[in-house]
Amino acid sequence: MTKIQKLLVANRGEIALRIMRTAREMGIPTVAIYSEADRQSLHVRYADEAVCVGPPPSSESYLKIDAIIEACQKTGANAIHPGYGFLSENANFARAVRNAGLIFVGPSPESIEIMGSKLAAKAAVASYNIPMVPGTPEAITDREEAKKTSAQIGYPILIKASAGGGGKGMRIVEQEADFDEGMNRAVSEATSAFGDGSVFIEKYVTSPRHVEIQVLGDQHGNIIHLFERECSVQRRHQKVVEEAPSSVLTPEIRSEMGRCAVEVARACGYYGAGTVEFIVDDQLNFYFLEMNTRLQVEHPVTEQITGIDLVKQMIYIAEGKPLEIKQEDLKINGHAIEIRVYAEDPANNFLPDVGTLETYVRPQGNGIRVDDGFEQGMAIPIYYDPMIAKLVATGATRAEAIEKMIRAIDEYRITGVQTTLPFCRFVMQHEAFRSGQFDTHFVNHYFTPDQLSPETSAEETQLAGVLAAWLFQNSQPKPETGGVVSAQRSSKWKERRFR
Ligand code: ADP
Ligand code: ADP
Ligand code: MG
Repeated sequence: MTKIQKLLVANRGEIALRIMRTAREMGIPTVAIYSEADRQSLHVRYADEAVCVGPPPSSESYLKIDAIIEACQKTGANAIHPGYGFLSENANFARAVRNAGLIFVGPSPESIEIMGSKLAAKAAVASYNIPMVPGTPEAITDREEAKKTSAQIGYPILIKASAGGGGKGMRIVEQEADFDEGMNRAVSEATSAFGDGSVFIEKYVTSPRHVEIQVLGDQHGNIIHLFERECSVQRRHQKVVEEAPSSVLTPEIRSEMGRCAVEVARACGYYGAGTVEFIVDDQLNFYFLEMNTRLQVEHPVTEQITGIDLVKQMIYIAEGKPLEIKQEDLKINGHAIEIRVYAEDPANNFLPDVGTLETYVRPQGNGIRVDDGFEQGMAIPIYYDPMIAKLVATGATRAEAIEKMIRAIDEYRITGVQTTLPFCRFVMQHEAFRSGQFDTHFVNHYFTPDQLSPETSAEETQLAGVLAAWLFQNSQPKPETGGVVSAQRSSKWKERRFR
């Protein structure tokens, strides 16, 4: 067992802050790294020490393995937490950290390597009793053979890049006539995006739900699971709303999925915090998708319902301590929902809308947790992921969590950029979400930008009526001043609509 004396956090933004907070609670001093674009960032101010690792592009800073290890040597940090994204799932990084005599707060490089390839992961779990989506178990080398397999499975099928991630490297093929073109594109995309052209086929599960299980394993072979997170509300195969527990799992399915997740982790000798992702069909059959060998963006919902600080557990595990939590001690308390507040325009295809946070006032109150990395007046850099914050609402029941979330969204004041807040409010109010009957097609099935118009909310319809009456009255006697005032009123109104 080696105690972590000082922890370097190889990340930025909300996750860097979130990790440092737990370290501070544990009495561990922290070191931040930052790029030239992040000099003024909160994670830099929060840390005990900070080291600049390079220019703004992440390839020249947050991804620079040597500079990061050098920052440890310079500051005397003996451990590195990678957070998510960046180098968190890079086996070479984990290995370099180990070779430098430092502690990597995460799994072994070997586990990362296996699970970093969707195909190697499937091979590793093949001897365990884990349900898999029908498809090809190996990279496609013979196209005619693959076409036959696809016909047997039945269209639509999905061509996936083995090295894919972040919702990228997937292509749906609806019918055999489109197979060759789909393959050509999938291979060339996988090669350019991931430097690895290996692709395989999976049956495209129609009406799928994305349900994942949080696992924790120590270095002594103990592995437990901390129940599921439901992440079916996605755009571009990427999550925007996550919750725990899922509204559809029965206790039996939950425990069976938990067992499978623990076995997947065992199959690669896993230790640390990890997530085993499953796809669930409309009959509640579930299939293993992949394992993410890191702390997940949406980990707070699990913390909220279990009362367990996942980063604290990761630190203990990295120090070599045995897990103290037993599976039978864990239970689900209440319900938590997370929304990802991105600087994106939901009315314009969720395109990033970076800029300066002219107004930034976060919601507060009972059951509300905001994990963010910004203050009013700060600019959202163009170089990185445009996530501003994660807003988490926890209630005794799912219905209570939803109402808390709507209240918190209404309190959140952001101007200067468009955000996913109005979209998330739309989700919280939608009957499909409220009833729990939805799948990963939620956005395609139900969302059109005009639904963000004020007419959808009774309160705002009323406001529009008041405004119209006011405009009418004021436009009569004094059109010149009336015009100016009404322009101010309507811009305030617009701000209200899109806040
Ligand atoms: P989570 O499952 O934790 O929600 P995401 O898929 O949203 O994870 O990814 C978390 C972060 O990691 C995002 O910033 C995403 O862009 C990044 N990411 C994940 N996988 C990859 C990858 N293979 N290449 C580049 N970035 C990735
Ligand atoms: P990534 O590494 O990009 O996270 P995943 O395999 O986890 O890739 O898939 C991401 C998302 O794509 C899933 O959450 C789901 O919405 C969709 N997806 C993946 N595989 C399938 C499938 N076989 N059928 C239908 N949808 C799928
Ligand atoms: Mg995934």
